[in-house]
Amino acid sequence: MKTVYPFLCFAVLIAAPLKLLGQPAPVRWEYQHPQMGTLFRLVLYAADSVQASEAARAAFRRIDSLNAILSDYLPDSELSVLSDHSDWAEVSPALEQVLRKAQEIASQTDGAFDITIGPLSRLWRRASRQGIFPDSLELAAAREKVGYQNLLIQPDKPLVKLLLPGMRLDAGGIAKGFAVDEAMAVLRSHGLPVALVDGGGDLLAGEAPPGKEGWEIEVVGDTVLVVTNRAVATSGAAYRHLDWQGRRYSHIIGPKEGLGVLHGKQVTVVAPSCMLADALATALSVEPGLETRLKAIYQDSSFRMGQAGEK
Ligand code: AMP
Ligand code: MG
Repeated sequence: MKTVYPFLCFAVLIAAPLKLLGQPAPVRWEYQHPQMGTLFRLVLYAADSVQASEAARAAFRRIDSLNAILSDYLPDSELSVLSDHSDWAEVSPALEQVLRKAQEIASQTDGAFDITIGPLSRLWRRASRQGIFPDSLELAAAREKVGYQNLLIQPDKPLVKLLLPGMRLDAGGIAKGFAVDEAMAVLRSHGLPVALVDGGGDLLAGEAPPGKEGWEIEVVGDTVLVVTNRAVATSGAAYRHLDWQGRRYSHIIGPKEGLGVLHGKQVTVVAPSCMLADALATALSVEPGLETRLKAIYQDSSFRMGQAGEK
């Protein structure tokens, strides 16, 4: 037996480094997929191309399925069908999660964020397409149908009801953020936590890339943030708007006045989830004065306000 020991020690010593060498270093992979009116991008680190592409495909499938639930452009999405419904309706877990978060943020922002904005956002989309200010009677009629208090969700059941005829839900201010969070969850479930999911500027960074402190994200004013396990979302009038009689009206609408916001501020929110960052960025674009209140509620988040287009 004595003669066997030195051999065993030698074998163990060799086996350990061989095991390390046997695991190839993770490589950076990048994938893109158009959805929700933007380009989703995944950056991930994986040792194996098959694992990387399977995970990316599954993440994009999840984003596609969320679009089929949350889009207000598709007449047969779950959101659109719900908007057509006047009685209590049962909703899917994804829609329930988005609606509950939207209602929470609506009440924290006194309705600056309002997922029932649909009648007004339809009017403003058409206005910006045609380059014409919306008709005042149509604006007044649309305003009557907007108000988050008229969207009811039962506290302990996935049952939802829209109180007024003609109400329309529009998840455009929150859905991309949710899709980003869900895509990251898919990558994690495939064993790939070192990843970045970018939904056209609303993004979630996972674990830091090898040898780095975090993911480098450029935001307003050429600032570079280095983040891990944080979401960054930006909103503002710069992206889509109507220019009318010397004024620039944003695609983000003040629910009370029914008008596209005019101030042109760009807002970046850093938060633990992209759904939260997305919705808060939209709310702050409507009402920048909410910053102090939101800072007190979301102490683990941060807010940057700047002029749109600032360099
Ligand atoms: P975002 O780019 O995330 O700020 O979202 C803008 C989109 O959210 C718009 O294109 C509308 O679809 C929707 N939206 C506009 N105004 C509001 C609002 N006050 N509250 C919630 N969603 C809004
Ligand atoms: Mg948003």
